[in-house]
Amino acid sequence: MYEKEKQELIKCGMEMLRYGLVSLTGGNVSLRLDDGTFLVTPSAMLYEDMEEDDIVRLDCEKNILEGRRRPSSDTDALLYIFRHKPEVKAIIHTHQPYATAAGLIGDCLPACLTTIIDTAHGDVPVTPFTVSSDEGMGVQTVRYCGASDAVILGNHGVIAMGDSVFSALETAVYLEEGAKAYLAARAAGSVKYLTKEQIEQEDMDRGNYGQQ
Ligand SMILES: [Zn+2]
Repeated sequence: MYEKEKQELIKCGMEMLRYGLVSLTGGNVSLRLDDGTFLVTPSAMLYEDMEEDDIVRLDCEKNILEGRRRPSSDTDALLYIFRHKPEVKAIIHTHQPYATAAGLIGDCLPACLTTIIDTAHGDVPVTPFTVSSDEGMGVQTVRYCGASDAVILGNHGVIAMGDSVFSALETAVYLEEGAKAYLAARAAGSVKYLTKEQIEQEDMDRGNYGQQ
């Protein structure tokens, strides 16, 4: 069941590698299905080796319904986010270095670039440190995300959320691009920040992006 969706998760993992958001078996991809169950990538497998049968389908109590593998070790955290944020359809977790580095030097990645505002709607919050593979990662994401579609997990990585796998991926990729520019600017001099009004203006849907 859900072959198309399982392929979508594997393809997203390959894109995460391609964009340098993860290395080897790091990170994970998960998706809420229409029947209220979830797909999660398997624990500790290379994305390039994953096949449809390796993707695990489980219910919100973490009972495995389909799949021959153990699900991602972050599954408790992912299910916590899905339970507490019903609008979230897809979550990707990465260890993307630039956004993670921004989290090592501050309490947020400031909304100083259009791409950060377009994807996160403002500053991207940094959560306090929690150990990996613990539900705390999900608890802190829900506590800190506010209106942002992403959080930087303190001393760890990023959680990006969306209404589809692609939109979560898009958020993570643009966040990384923005974090890279921000850190380059910080290393070179002082950063020109935007005002609250400028951020609000940028965050308004002006209806001119995309195809009709
Ligand atoms: Zn991680």
